[in-house]
Amino acid sequence: MKILFNSKFLLHNSLCEGEGAYRIEKFKGKYEESDAIGEQYISLVHAHEYKNSILNACNNEDTIAEVELNKDSWEAAISAIGLSIEASKDGDFAVVRPPGHHAKRDKAAGFCFFNNIAIATQKLVNEGKRVFIFDFDGHHGDGTQSIFYESDQVLFCSIHQLWAYPYTGFAEETGSGKGKGYNLNLPLISGANDMAFYDKLNLAIKAGREFNPDIVAVSAGFDAYEDDKILSLKYSQKAFYECGLRLRRAFPNIFGVLEGGYHDDLMECVEAFVEGINIGARPRKNLFDTDMSVG
Ligand SMILES: [Zn+2]
Repeated sequence: MKILFNSKFLLHNSLCEGEGAYRIEKFKGKYEESDAIGEQYISLVHAHEYKNSILNACNNEDTIAEVELNKDSWEAAISAIGLSIEASKDGDFAVVRPPGHHAKRDKAAGFCFFNNIAIATQKLVNEGKRVFIFDFDGHHGDGTQSIFYESDQVLFCSIHQLWAYPYTGFAEETGSGKGKGYNLNLPLISGANDMAFYDKLNLAIKAGREFNPDIVAVSAGFDAYEDDKILSLKYSQKAFYECGLRLRRAFPNIFGVLEGGYHDDLMECVEAFVEGINIGARPRKNLFDTDMSVG
């Protein structure tokens, strides 16, 4: 798993202290620039009128979903989709802004305009693949849940803080119609630490294995981190490493897309997750190997 990044993402909502450019500034210069435009894929999930309303809002520098858009926001948004699609092809990790998992088909919300992971997922579904979307952002991925709520080709699973924005994500929300049983919410209470996360992570992996997906799409947000300025979960960086490691031990095909994370250690958290994935991909050592650092 490689990290895909583009410094265009720094031009969107650049001065904000919430979902601002400061979040991903450290990636610039450290990671190669990856370019991909995803405008042609928006219609896989969002209606034409909705797409135009976001384009106009960028041109008019309107404030929506708590974000002041600017003329560079459009380019950032369509590049975020493009890089998410690229990540899905080779099992990479797309470091993008704006994030996507609160965006519904026809509604921007919670700093999100187009649902990057949902668009990449729908493209895979159209190619005949079954997709397990695993969302460990500390907020419930309500937009993604709503998009696939009636689908049996996508298993959506979210681990998040209960009673936090967007105030959804209860265990009772299990899908509807054909999608009944294909939506799994595993909420945690405020203050939950690594051990509490691992319990839910194991349940998510078990459900994912039973679903038997062709590919795992990870909505990777890092606002459950102990120093996050918005949420009050208490994961350490090690938890993100462990998450990557356990996912890779369970699934061969995984890609990731950045969601939230509002603190100064976002790059380190992303790197811990990617490192876990890459270490987990190495073959297990055999029983007689005394080096227990791997395996
Ligand atoms: Zn979040």
